[in-house]
Amino acid sequence: MTAIRDVLIWDSERERAERGDIEIGSDGRITAVLPPKGAKGEILFDGRGETAAIPGLVNAHTHVSMTLLRGIAEELPLMEWLQTKIFPAEDRLLPQHIRSGAELAMLEMISGGTTCFADMYYFMREVASATLASGMRAALCRGITGDDARKLNENLSLAEDFGGREGRIIVQLGPHAPYTVPRDFLARIAGIAKDRGLGVHFHWLETEGELKTFRDEYKISPSEYLAQAGLLDAPKLLLAHSVWHPSDELGRVNRSNVTLVHNPKSNLKLGSGYAPVREMLDLGMNVALGTDGAASNNRLDMWDEMRAAALMHKGYHKDPTLVSARDVLKMATLAGAAGMGFEGVGLIKAGWHADIALVDISGPRYVGCDDRNLPEFLVYSGSSRDVRATIVDGKPLYKDGCFLTMDSQEIVAKAREHRRDITK
Ligand SMILES: [Zn+2]
Repeated sequence: MTAIRDVLIWDSERERAERGDIEIGSDGRITAVLPPKGAKGEILFDGRGETAAIPGLVNAHTHVSMTLLRGIAEELPLMEWLQTKIFPAEDRLLPQHIRSGAELAMLEMISGGTTCFADMYYFMREVASATLASGMRAALCRGITGDDARKLNENLSLAEDFGGREGRIIVQLGPHAPYTVPRDFLARIAGIAKDRGLGVHFHWLETEGELKTFRDEYKISPSEYLAQAGLLDAPKLLLAHSVWHPSDELGRVNRSNVTLVHNPKSNLKLGSGYAPVREMLDLGMNVALGTDGAASNNRLDMWDEMRAAALMHKGYHKDPTLVSARDVLKMATLAGAAGMGFEGVGLIKAGWHADIALVDISGPRYVGCDDRNLPEFLVYSGSSRDVRATIVDGKPLYKDGCFLTMDSQEIVAKAREHRRDITK
């Protein structure tokens, strides 16, 4: 038994934060939330009433190994960015680069309170084993382009070998996007997902040009396309971006197995537009939050993403009541974990996994922060720099600037070397 002492606890089921202790069992699950000094066991962390405890942040759409490609293509439109810069660089990536980029990303995520992520890329066995070693939780898939049975088979063997490992890895199927995977192959992938109980992670209507293709070439509505391909019947479907999903068609994809992943900063940086998040939330849809890869953001910082999500819709719609701080904190925690298929992840309550970010609220930006306004302080004044500890399944991965499961100096040095390899 271990304990996190005297913290201000908030999750998306709470109206007000609660000052207390979190008691954690040897299985890594929370056994009780108790009044301050009420928890028994070895003290993992003493918050002294100056620390907030929130569920670990969940980055629901990223490509972690792209940290090695950070900055190689700036200020270009998506298709040009992909075809002239990203795809050629990706051709040079070897398994050791994928591992190195993934580890670099994990340092960044862990130090900012992120405990869980959904990733689509290739050489994913490297990402899976790095995830297991780091202590993080992830939903992983092999990005599938074309009608390439080899890539699909790699994805399926990833599921066989890593799915369910240590309760921290979920393997999904990863058809890349409607513009990179033919429709009949997409239908085949969707059928396999349904048969084998695997989720699907898919890039969806990121740019306006894609919507135009549906209208002018496929002559089918986007929602109908998803339904006909069988994707809406996948046990879990993560639709990344969904910027151009027509808002009058959202009802058609409003299903409990479907999660829309909002990526505000990537969409802003690539000039893609803004997703109809107001409408999605009004319909009660499950909306998660992601950073996308480091080549299009360029941070894997969920605090930054929360702030962008909470601000941009207010500005576009000229309505400060839209997409509240509490909405985005839920998107960045419970909604992401549930969307990937992790059960019992994303709240701080008995029986749930002890995936927790501890945040220092003693600094100047938090004067006036209390049990009623903590979510707003975190989103509008807070930053990843305030994270003091990151815990997954009751195990601290990061505390007071130190990485407890990873050698950060070695990882950064190796990543520098690998970056030189792939850009020379
Ligand atoms: Zn992406």
